[in-house]
Amino acid sequence: MCVRLVYTRTAEAVLPAGLDSSRPGMLGVAPHVGHRLYLIRMDLSRDELLRYSRHLILPDVALAGQRRLKGARILLIGAGGLGSPAALYLAAAGVGTLGLVDFDVVDVTNLQRQVLHGTSDVGRPKLESARARIRDMNPHVHVETYETRLTSENALEIMRDYDVIVDGTDNFATRYLTNDACVMLGTPNVYGSIFRFEGQASVFALPNGPCYRCLFPDPPPPGMVPSCAEGGVLGVLPGIVGTIQATEALKLVLGAGETLSGRLLLIDALTMRFRTVRVQRDPTCPACGTREITELIDYDEYCGVPGASSAHAMKDVPELTPRELAERLSAHTDFDLIDVREPYEWDIGRIPGARLIPLGDLAGAMAALDSRRDIVVYCRSGVRSADATRRLRAAGFRATNLAGGILRWSDDVDPSVPKY
Ligand SMILES: [Zn+2]
Repeated sequence: MCVRLVYTRTAEAVLPAGLDSSRPGMLGVAPHVGHRLYLIRMDLSRDELLRYSRHLILPDVALAGQRRLKGARILLIGAGGLGSPAALYLAAAGVGTLGLVDFDVVDVTNLQRQVLHGTSDVGRPKLESARARIRDMNPHVHVETYETRLTSENALEIMRDYDVIVDGTDNFATRYLTNDACVMLGTPNVYGSIFRFEGQASVFALPNGPCYRCLFPDPPPPGMVPSCAEGGVLGVLPGIVGTIQATEALKLVLGAGETLSGRLLLIDALTMRFRTVRVQRDPTCPACGTREITELIDYDEYCGVPGASSAHAMKDVPELTPRELAERLSAHTDFDLIDVREPYEWDIGRIPGARLIPLGDLAGAMAALDSRRDIVVYCRSGVRSADATRRLRAAGFRATNLAGGILRWSDDVDPSVPKY
Protein backbone atom coordinates (compact mmCIF):
# COMPACT_ATOMS: atom_id res chain seq x y z
CA MET A 1 0.00 0.00 0.00
CA CYS A 2 1.42 3.36 -0.90
CA VAL A 3 0.42 6.19 1.30
CA ARG A 4 1.16 9.66 2.38
CA LEU A 5 0.56 10.69 5.93
CA VAL A 6 -0.72 14.17 6.51
CA TYR A 7 -0.75 15.74 9.93
CA THR A 8 -3.57 18.06 10.72
CA ARG A 9 -4.28 19.85 13.92
CA THR A 10 -7.60 18.22 14.66
CA ALA A 11 -8.78 15.01 16.35
CA GLU A 12 -6.68 12.04 17.27
CA ALA A 13 -4.63 9.74 15.09
CA VAL A 14 -6.68 7.57 12.78
CA LEU A 15 -5.07 4.76 10.85
CA PRO A 16 -7.17 2.88 8.31
CA ALA A 17 -7.19 -0.90 8.47
CA GLY A 18 -4.34 -2.49 6.60
CA LEU A 19 -1.74 0.19 7.28
CA ASP A 20 1.27 -0.84 9.26
CA SER A 21 1.02 1.60 12.12
CA SER A 22 4.47 0.68 13.46
CA ARG A 23 6.02 2.23 10.40
CA PRO A 24 4.29 5.49 9.63
CA GLY A 25 4.89 7.33 6.41
CA MET A 26 7.81 9.12 7.91
CA LEU A 27 10.17 7.83 10.48
CA GLY A 28 10.77 10.24 13.27
CA VAL A 29 7.69 12.37 13.01
CA ALA A 30 5.65 11.63 16.07
CA PRO A 31 1.98 12.29 15.67
CA HIS A 32 1.23 15.05 18.12
CA VAL A 33 -1.67 14.81 20.38
CA GLY A 34 -4.39 16.57 18.49
CA HIS A 35 -3.00 15.70 15.08
CA ARG A 36 -4.80 13.39 12.74
CA LEU A 37 -3.23 11.18 10.11
CA TYR A 38 -4.92 10.55 6.82
CA LEU A 39 -3.80 8.86 3.69
CA ILE A 40 -3.44 9.63 0.03
CA ARG A 41 -2.62 6.91 -2.46
CA MET A 42 0.50 7.57 -4.55
CA ASP A 43 0.97 5.68 -7.79
CA LEU A 44 3.86 6.02 -10.22
CA SER A 45 3.40 6.42 -13.97
CA ARG A 46 5.47 4.47 -16.50
CA ASP A 47 7.57 7.57 -17.06
CA GLU A 48 8.27 7.82 -13.37
CA LEU A 49 9.11 4.13 -13.05
CA LEU A 50 11.72 4.58 -15.77
CA ARG A 51 13.05 7.84 -14.38
CA TYR A 52 13.55 6.42 -10.90
CA SER A 53 14.84 3.01 -12.02
CA ARG A 54 18.11 3.37 -10.05
CA HIS A 55 16.07 3.99 -6.92
CA LEU A 56 13.69 1.12 -7.59
CA ILE A 57 16.51 -1.42 -7.51
CA LEU A 58 17.89 0.08 -4.30
CA PRO A 59 16.81 -2.01 -1.28
CA ASP A 60 16.20 0.93 1.08
CA VAL A 61 14.15 2.83 -1.47
CA ALA A 62 12.47 0.43 -3.91
CA LEU A 63 8.92 0.99 -5.10
CA ALA A 64 7.48 1.62 -1.64
CA GLY A 65 10.15 4.23 -0.88
CA GLN A 66 9.71 5.95 -4.22
CA ARG A 67 5.99 6.22 -3.60
CA ARG A 68 6.73 7.65 -0.21
CA LEU A 69 9.00 10.25 -1.82
CA LYS A 70 6.25 11.15 -4.24
CA GLY A 71 3.87 11.61 -1.34
CA ALA A 72 6.33 13.73 0.61
CA ARG A 73 6.19 17.50 1.05
CA ILE A 74 9.50 19.18 1.82
CA LEU A 75 9.90 22.89 2.49
CA LEU A 76 13.13 24.72 1.75
CA ILE A 77 13.69 27.93 3.65
CA GLY A 78 15.80 29.90 1.19
CA ALA A 79 16.57 29.27 -2.48
CA GLY A 80 20.20 30.34 -2.13
CA GLY A 81 23.47 28.52 -1.58
CA LEU A 82 22.12 25.64 0.53
CA GLY A 83 18.64 25.60 -0.99
CA SER A 84 20.00 25.30 -4.54
CA PRO A 85 21.62 21.86 -4.37
CA ALA A 86 19.01 20.65 -1.90
CA ALA A 87 16.16 21.62 -4.24
CA LEU A 88 17.83 20.12 -7.30
CA TYR A 89 18.59 16.76 -5.67
CA LEU A 90 15.24 16.50 -3.90
CA ALA A 91 13.48 17.26 -7.19
CA ALA A 92 15.64 14.78 -9.09
CA ALA A 93 14.94 12.14 -6.43
CA GLY A 94 11.21 12.48 -7.00
CA VAL A 95 9.98 14.31 -3.92
CA GLY A 96 6.38 15.03 -4.87
CA THR A 97 6.03 18.54 -3.48
CA LEU A 98 8.76 21.05 -2.85
CA GLY A 99 7.97 24.31 -1.10
CA LEU A 100 10.34 27.25 -1.47
CA VAL A 101 10.44 30.36 0.69
CA ASP A 102 12.49 33.26 -0.64
CA PHE A 103 11.99 36.94 -1.39
CA ASP A 104 15.23 37.79 -3.16
CA VAL A 105 16.07 38.42 -6.78
CA VAL A 106 19.00 36.73 -8.48
CA ASP A 107 22.14 38.81 -8.20
CA VAL A 108 25.30 38.21 -10.17
CA THR A 109 27.21 37.63 -6.91
CA ASN A 110 24.90 34.64 -6.18
CA LEU A 111 26.04 32.67 -9.21
CA GLN A 112 29.38 31.58 -7.70
CA ARG A 113 27.45 29.06 -5.58
CA GLN A 114 23.67 29.20 -6.11
CA VAL A 115 23.41 26.62 -8.88
CA LEU A 116 19.62 26.83 -9.15
CA HIS A 117 20.04 30.14 -10.95
CA GLY A 118 21.83 31.06 -14.16
CA THR A 119 23.33 34.16 -15.73
CA SER A 120 20.17 34.77 -17.74
CA ASP A 121 18.20 34.85 -14.45
CA VAL A 122 20.00 37.88 -13.00
CA GLY A 123 17.38 40.39 -11.87
CA ARG A 124 14.61 37.78 -11.82
CA PRO A 125 12.95 36.64 -8.57
CA LYS A 126 14.78 33.56 -7.28
CA LEU A 127 11.51 31.69 -6.94
CA GLU A 128 10.81 32.13 -10.66
CA SER A 129 14.17 30.84 -11.79
CA ALA A 130 14.03 28.04 -9.20
CA ARG A 131 10.64 26.91 -10.42
CA ALA A 132 11.79 26.86 -14.05
CA ARG A 133 14.97 24.96 -13.22
CA ILE A 134 13.14 22.39 -11.06
CA ARG A 135 10.50 21.87 -13.74
CA ASP A 136 13.25 21.16 -16.24
CA MET A 137 14.97 18.82 -13.78
CA ASN A 138 11.80 16.87 -13.05
CA PRO A 139 8.34 17.86 -14.35
CA HIS A 140 6.72 15.41 -11.92
CA VAL A 141 7.55 17.66 -8.99
CA HIS A 142 4.93 20.08 -7.78
CA VAL A 143 6.53 23.37 -6.65
CA GLU A 144 4.85 25.66 -4.15
CA THR A 145 6.41 29.08 -3.70
CA TYR A 146 6.19 31.66 -0.93
CA GLU A 147 7.63 34.97 -2.04
CA THR A 148 8.06 36.40 1.42
CA ARG A 149 10.46 36.64 4.26
CA LEU A 150 9.72 33.96 6.86
CA THR A 151 8.36 35.78 9.90
CA SER A 152 6.79 34.96 13.26
CA GLU A 153 3.44 35.85 11.68
CA ASN A 154 3.61 33.49 8.69
CA ALA A 155 6.02 30.70 9.71
CA LEU A 156 3.57 28.25 11.29
CA GLU A 157 1.05 28.76 8.53
CA ILE A 158 3.63 28.11 5.79
CA MET A 159 5.42 25.24 7.54
CA ARG A 160 2.37 23.45 8.92
CA ASP A 161 1.65 21.29 5.89
CA TYR A 162 5.17 20.03 5.29
CA ASP A 163 6.75 16.78 6.44
CA VAL A 164 10.35 18.02 6.59
CA ILE A 165 11.86 21.50 6.72
CA VAL A 166 15.28 22.15 5.18
CA ASP A 167 16.83 25.20 6.80
CA GLY A 168 18.93 27.01 4.21
CA THR A 169 18.86 30.39 5.91
CA ASP A 170 21.84 32.66 6.20
CA ASN A 171 20.96 34.51 9.39
CA PHE A 172 20.42 33.69 13.04
CA ALA A 173 16.99 35.29 13.38
CA THR A 174 15.43 33.05 10.72
CA ARG A 175 17.33 30.03 12.05
CA TYR A 176 15.89 30.42 15.56
CA LEU A 177 12.48 31.12 14.08
CA THR A 178 12.65 27.98 11.91
CA ASN A 179 13.80 25.94 14.88
CA ASP A 180 11.07 27.09 17.23
CA ALA A 181 8.37 26.63 14.62
CA CYS A 182 9.64 23.11 13.84
CA VAL A 183 9.62 22.18 17.53
CA MET A 184 6.09 23.53 17.93
CA LEU A 185 4.82 21.68 14.87
CA GLY A 186 6.80 18.50 15.58
CA THR A 187 8.36 18.72 12.12
CA PRO A 188 11.98 17.62 11.53
CA ASN A 189 14.38 20.48 10.86
CA VAL A 190 17.32 19.63 8.62
CA TYR A 191 19.91 22.21 9.52
CA GLY A 192 22.93 23.38 7.54
CA SER A 193 25.21 26.36 7.76
CA ILE A 194 28.33 27.53 5.97
CA PHE A 195 31.08 30.06 6.42
CA ARG A 196 34.28 30.45 4.44
CA PHE A 197 35.63 26.88 4.22
CA GLU A 198 33.58 25.37 7.03
CA GLY A 199 30.16 23.81 7.19
CA GLN A 200 27.80 22.26 9.71
CA ALA A 201 24.79 20.00 9.39
CA SER A 202 22.41 18.25 11.75
CA VAL A 203 18.81 17.16 12.14
CA PHE A 204 16.78 18.82 14.86
CA ALA A 205 13.35 18.54 16.41
CA LEU A 206 12.90 14.79 16.09
CA PRO A 207 11.07 13.16 18.98
CA ASN A 208 13.61 12.76 21.79
CA GLY A 209 16.29 14.49 19.70
CA PRO A 210 17.78 17.90 20.45
CA CYS A 211 16.83 21.13 18.73
CA TYR A 212 18.96 24.03 17.52
CA ARG A 213 18.50 25.79 20.85
CA CYS A 214 19.85 22.78 22.75
CA LEU A 215 23.06 23.26 20.76
CA PHE A 216 23.09 27.07 20.69
CA PRO A 217 20.96 28.36 23.58
CA ASP A 218 21.69 31.98 22.75
CA PRO A 219 22.38 33.80 19.51
CA PRO A 220 25.86 35.31 19.18
CA PRO A 221 26.11 39.04 19.88
CA PRO A 222 25.18 41.02 16.78
CA GLY A 223 28.16 41.54 14.49
CA MET A 224 30.25 38.83 16.19
CA VAL A 225 29.74 36.25 13.47
CA PRO A 226 30.15 37.78 10.03
CA SER A 227 27.77 36.68 7.28
CA CYS A 228 28.99 35.04 4.07
CA ALA A 229 28.49 38.43 2.40
CA GLU A 230 31.00 39.89 4.85
CA GLY A 231 33.34 36.93 5.39
CA GLY A 232 33.08 35.05 2.11
CA VAL A 233 32.39 31.41 1.35
CA LEU A 234 33.97 28.88 -0.96
CA GLY A 235 31.44 28.40 -3.76
CA VAL A 236 31.37 24.62 -3.60
CA LEU A 237 30.86 24.48 0.19
CA PRO A 238 27.07 25.09 0.14
CA GLY A 239 26.99 22.40 -2.54
CA ILE A 240 28.46 19.91 -0.08
CA VAL A 241 26.34 20.98 2.90
CA GLY A 242 23.10 21.43 0.93
CA THR A 243 23.55 17.98 -0.60
CA ILE A 244 24.01 16.51 2.87
CA GLN A 245 20.79 18.25 3.94
CA ALA A 246 19.00 16.74 0.94
CA THR A 247 20.35 13.31 1.90
CA GLU A 248 19.04 13.66 5.45
CA ALA A 249 15.65 14.87 4.22
CA LEU A 250 15.36 11.86 1.89
CA LYS A 251 16.34 9.48 4.70
CA LEU A 252 13.69 11.02 6.95
CA VAL A 253 11.02 10.49 4.32
CA LEU A 254 12.21 6.96 3.58
CA GLY A 255 12.73 6.03 7.21
CA ALA A 256 16.10 4.67 6.12
CA GLY A 257 19.42 4.62 7.93
CA GLU A 258 20.51 6.76 10.83
CA THR A 259 20.05 10.52 10.65
CA LEU A 260 22.24 13.25 12.10
CA SER A 261 19.77 13.74 14.96
CA GLY A 262 21.84 13.97 18.14
CA ARG A 263 25.01 14.64 16.17
CA LEU A 264 26.47 17.77 14.65
CA LEU A 265 28.50 17.19 11.50
CA LEU A 266 31.47 19.55 11.18
CA ILE A 267 33.12 19.91 7.81
CA ASP A 268 36.43 21.60 7.12
CA ALA A 269 36.91 21.81 3.38
CA LEU A 270 40.50 23.06 3.67
CA THR A 271 41.73 19.96 5.49
CA MET A 272 38.84 17.88 4.11
CA ARG A 273 38.08 16.57 7.56
CA PHE A 274 34.57 15.50 8.49
CA ARG A 275 33.77 14.81 12.12
CA THR A 276 30.66 14.53 14.24
CA VAL A 277 30.14 15.66 17.79
CA ARG A 278 27.34 14.50 20.07
CA VAL A 279 24.52 16.91 20.75
CA GLN A 280 22.27 16.05 23.63
CA ARG A 281 18.79 17.21 24.25
CA ASP A 282 18.85 19.87 26.94
CA PRO A 283 16.04 19.31 29.45
CA THR A 284 16.14 23.05 30.28
CA CYS A 285 15.82 24.07 26.60
CA PRO A 286 12.92 26.55 26.46
CA ALA A 287 11.84 25.19 23.07
CA CYS A 288 11.99 21.40 23.26
CA GLY A 289 12.68 20.86 26.99
CA THR A 290 10.52 22.97 29.28
CA ARG A 291 8.46 24.13 26.27
CA GLU A 292 8.32 27.65 27.71
CA ILE A 293 8.30 28.97 24.18
CA THR A 294 4.68 28.58 23.26
CA GLU A 295 4.51 31.20 20.57
CA LEU A 296 6.93 32.70 18.08
CA ILE A 297 8.69 35.85 19.23
CA ASP A 298 10.36 38.81 17.50
CA TYR A 299 13.52 37.08 16.32
CA ASP A 300 15.16 40.19 14.87
CA GLU A 301 15.03 41.75 18.27
CA TYR A 302 16.05 38.50 19.98
CA CYS A 303 19.14 38.14 17.77
CA GLY A 304 19.87 41.84 17.50
CA VAL A 305 20.44 41.41 13.77
CA PRO A 306 19.03 42.48 10.39
CA GLY A 307 16.04 44.70 9.99
CA ALA A 308 15.10 46.68 13.02
CA SER A 309 17.93 46.10 15.40
CA SER A 310 20.98 46.43 13.19
CA ALA A 311 19.48 49.41 11.39
CA HIS A 312 18.81 50.75 14.84
CA ALA A 313 22.36 50.05 15.98
CA MET A 314 23.69 51.88 12.93
CA LYS A 315 21.48 54.87 13.60
CA ASP A 316 23.31 55.81 16.76
CA VAL A 317 26.54 56.45 14.84
CA PRO A 318 26.94 59.61 12.76
CA GLU A 319 27.08 58.95 9.03
CA LEU A 320 27.97 60.75 5.86
CA THR A 321 27.03 59.80 2.32
CA PRO A 322 29.56 58.88 -0.37
CA ARG A 323 28.79 62.19 -2.18
CA GLU A 324 29.48 64.16 0.98
CA LEU A 325 32.76 62.27 1.39
CA ALA A 326 33.68 63.03 -2.25
CA GLU A 327 33.06 66.75 -1.62
CA ARG A 328 35.22 66.67 1.48
CA LEU A 329 37.99 64.91 -0.42
CA SER A 330 37.90 67.33 -3.34
CA ALA A 331 37.86 70.32 -0.94
CA HIS A 332 41.00 68.84 0.68
CA THR A 333 39.40 69.02 4.11
CA ASP A 334 41.80 67.75 6.71
CA PHE A 335 40.64 64.40 8.08
CA ASP A 336 41.72 60.76 8.32
CA LEU A 337 40.02 58.24 6.06
CA ILE A 338 40.25 54.73 7.52
CA ASP A 339 39.38 51.51 5.73
CA VAL A 340 38.57 48.76 8.24
CA ARG A 341 38.31 45.90 5.76
CA GLU A 342 40.75 43.03 5.34
CA PRO A 343 43.90 43.38 3.18
CA TYR A 344 42.50 41.11 0.44
CA GLU A 345 39.47 43.39 0.17
CA TRP A 346 41.73 46.43 0.06
CA ASP A 347 43.50 44.81 -2.90
CA ILE A 348 40.22 44.62 -4.83
CA GLY A 349 39.67 48.38 -4.62
CA ARG A 350 39.80 51.31 -2.24
CA ILE A 351 38.94 54.97 -1.86
CA PRO A 352 41.93 57.20 -2.71
CA GLY A 353 43.60 58.69 0.36
CA ALA A 354 42.46 55.93 2.71
CA ARG A 355 44.67 53.98 5.04
CA LEU A 356 44.03 50.38 5.94
CA ILE A 357 43.41 49.35 9.55
CA PRO A 358 41.53 46.03 9.56
CA LEU A 359 38.79 45.98 12.19
CA GLY A 360 40.65 43.36 14.22
CA ASP A 361 43.67 45.68 14.50
CA LEU A 362 41.71 48.80 15.36
CA ALA A 363 42.05 48.62 19.15
CA GLY A 364 45.84 48.32 18.89
CA ALA A 365 46.07 51.09 16.27
CA MET A 366 44.06 53.67 18.24
CA ALA A 367 47.06 54.88 20.21
CA ALA A 368 48.66 56.08 16.99
CA LEU A 369 45.57 58.00 15.82
CA ASP A 370 45.26 61.75 16.36
CA SER A 371 42.16 62.46 18.45
CA ARG A 372 42.17 66.12 17.33
CA ARG A 373 41.45 65.14 13.73
CA ASP A 374 38.12 64.05 12.22
CA ILE A 375 37.97 60.45 11.13
CA VAL A 376 35.81 58.90 8.42
CA VAL A 377 35.56 55.11 8.51
CA TYR A 378 34.40 52.81 5.74
CA CYS A 379 34.14 49.10 4.93
CA ARG A 380 32.36 47.12 2.21
CA SER A 381 28.72 47.81 3.10
CA GLY A 382 28.88 50.07 6.15
CA VAL A 383 28.22 47.46 8.85
CA ARG A 384 31.75 46.79 10.09
CA SER A 385 32.63 50.46 9.85
CA ALA A 386 29.58 51.35 11.96
CA ASP A 387 31.03 49.07 14.62
CA ALA A 388 34.45 50.71 14.21
CA THR A 389 32.89 54.19 14.37
CA ARG A 390 31.10 53.31 17.59
CA ARG A 391 34.32 51.99 19.14
CA LEU A 392 36.32 55.02 18.05
CA ARG A 393 33.74 57.41 19.45
CA ALA A 394 33.69 55.48 22.72
CA ALA A 395 37.45 56.04 22.85
CA GLY A 396 37.01 59.79 22.35
CA PHE A 397 37.58 60.14 18.60
CA ARG A 398 35.44 62.29 16.29
CA ALA A 399 34.55 59.41 13.96
CA THR A 400 31.89 59.26 11.23
CA ASN A 401 30.71 56.24 9.26
CA LEU A 402 30.50 56.14 5.46
CA ALA A 403 26.91 55.03 4.77
CA GLY A 404 26.69 52.05 2.44
CA GLY A 405 30.45 51.53 2.38
CA ILE A 406 32.51 51.07 -0.74
CA LEU A 407 29.53 49.46 -2.50
CA ARG A 408 27.59 52.72 -2.40
CA TRP A 409 30.76 54.70 -3.15
CA SER A 410 31.01 52.67 -6.35
CA ASP A 411 27.33 53.34 -7.19
CA ASP A 412 27.24 57.03 -6.34
CA VAL A 413 30.73 58.38 -6.88
CA ASP A 414 33.28 56.19 -8.62
CA PRO A 415 32.10 53.18 -10.64
CA SER A 416 35.72 52.29 -11.41
CA VAL A 417 35.99 50.96 -7.86
CA PRO A 418 34.85 47.34 -8.27
CA LYS A 419 31.96 45.97 -6.24
CA TYR A 420 32.36 42.49 -4.76
ZN1 LIG B 1 15.97 22.17 22.40
